[in-house]
Amino acid sequence: MANNLKSIFETDPDAKPRPRGNYENDYVGRFRSGRLVGKAPEALNEWRVTTGDPVVADRIAELLGGEPEEWETDKEDNIEILTASKSVAIIIENSDAIDASMKKFGFQGLEHHCDGVVYLTDDDPELVGTACGCPAMFQDRKDRAKSGKGPKPSIDVTFKLSDAPELGKFRFNSGSWELVKVLHEVYEAVDTMGGADEENGVKGGPVFATLNIENVSYTTKAGREVSYNKPVIKVTGAVAAEMPKAA
Ligand SMILES: [Zn+2]
Repeated sequence: MANNLKSIFETDPDAKPRPRGNYENDYVGRFRSGRLVGKAPEALNEWRVTTGDPVVADRIAELLGGEPEEWETDKEDNIEILTASKSVAIIIENSDAIDASMKKFGFQGLEHHCDGVVYLTDDDPELVGTACGCPAMFQDRKDRAKSGKGPKPSIDVTFKLSDAPELGKFRFNSGSWELVKVLHEVYEAVDTMGGADEENGVKGGPVFATLNIENVSYTTKAGREVSYNKPVIKVTGAVAAEMPKAA
């Protein structure tokens, strides 16, 4: 049953009870690239930040533009800022701060949680580590997810703001297939620039990066206009190397 409980909290990490005094894993806010208008999801061209802390909200508005406003939620982060920024400078601690897996949610919560090859968690602990049955090809996975039969990507990025690291950690969760496609490059850049040394168990230091909302627009051969937004993480360099005097 313990595993079952864990699955529920994975579908809704914000609802997970936090041990008091352990602020290390706490988020002060979330970056979001969309919102719900009524029941319809709307993609945004600039970052939307939600937080429960009015001080954080004011600082975000100062740094990225926008006005802190209350919004309808039963969660703690009841203040939102529709910022004027499509790009934000961030600090990523190391590649562990980017957690990626495939998830399918149903009425019972998390129904399928895998890395594309094997189950990462399951109600049945014996299934963990065994083949999950997802197709090998990217397009097949995407098609299965679209038809509601297969899991979708769930990428969690934890970071601090380069311009205000003292605020604490923020989180961005994405289900973007576009981000999944290039995620191995992001991992590699974080590890390389952060000086990770896998052989010796060194995770590497923090790196500067930008988190962007990029628009992709084109006309198909059939003349159909396609336009969508995708999140882009661009790693720019090691924190230590760029800020020798900061230490
Ligand atoms: Zn799977």
